[in-house]
Amino acid sequence: MAPVSPFPSRGASPVGFTELPMARTIAIANLKGGVGKTTTTISLGAALVERGYRVLLVDLDIQQDLCASLEVSTPRPGLADVLFSIVLFKNAELSEAFVEVRGLTVAGGYGLQQVETQLNPLKDSESALKFALAPHLDQFDIVLLDCGPSIGYLTRGALTAADDVLIPIQTEFLALNDLPGIMSAVASIKARLNPRLKVTGFVPTMYDGRTRHGLEILEEIAAQAKRHGVPAFNPIPKTIRLAEASASGRPITQYAPESSAALAYHRLAIEIERCGELKNSTGSVASPAVFSRPVASVSMQRMAQA
Ligand code: ADP
Ligand code: MG
Repeated sequence: MAPVSPFPSRGASPVGFTELPMARTIAIANLKGGVGKTTTTISLGAALVERGYRVLLVDLDIQQDLCASLEVSTPRPGLADVLFSIVLFKNAELSEAFVEVRGLTVAGGYGLQQVETQLNPLKDSESALKFALAPHLDQFDIVLLDCGPSIGYLTRGALTAADDVLIPIQTEFLALNDLPGIMSAVASIKARLNPRLKVTGFVPTMYDGRTRHGLEILEEIAAQAKRHGVPAFNPIPKTIRLAEASASGRPITQYAPESSAALAYHRLAIEIERCGELKNSTGSVASPAVFSRPVASVSMQRMAQA
């Protein structure tokens, strides 16, 4: 008898494995570049692997920074070939594009610029990524989609395939000006293509708790989160260790496991775990949180930084 899924139903997959546990798919998105989307995708993914999850990372940015940061050289056919194949021939095997690296499975590769320009005009083709992922959702617990900084074809595809959207926001002046763009993109895809889509929360990134400015922006992010009825997670500190990790080809949790950034991403993994009611592949629930607050508390940040 097929095992009963511990996860909420995601509807029928093309291969009909509705009884099996299905991965939760989270798009990491913000229409602004350089805010920590790729860093968050890799670091959160690696933290979730350490917590026993099977994690697939999908690099949907034409720049392929995620693949570069993990020193992944992608096979052919890569993700772009798979997306073309699905749209043109209604058939493709995403696993041919999978690369195993540092406990993570990664899909990405060359040719996404052509995907962006050539598939963009094709009506109703945004579901290609969703159909590419569907047969593999029982092989993973979590799929993280690293989006590029625009609402082009690939980002729309990610929001069509995702259950949740996690929005990294740089803890800097003007960073919140970009929030309406991604929030309205989410609302539009939700209304048109993906009714189950929801915002998991905001992740304040590059937070410098030594400055009044950092604290003020963090307060502003928390206020905006409240206004939108979503959590603002605890912030990721600003530290050069993340750029070093990327240059070394490793996630921060492996490059500098004791660093403040590694701990912050472990804390985010726990917060996501709690929001998503996730279970890992062994079926065990999250271990007790070492950091207890699911919503950013400015007073707590103040204490933490003191
Ligand atoms: P995005 O994917 O949104 O364009 P990245 O994750 O590539 O952003 O981050 C942009 C740059 O900022 C990279 O050089 C990265 O190493 C650096 N970075 C990301 N997060 C932090 C942080 N918390 N502290 C300091 N630098 C960071
Ligand atoms: Mg990026």
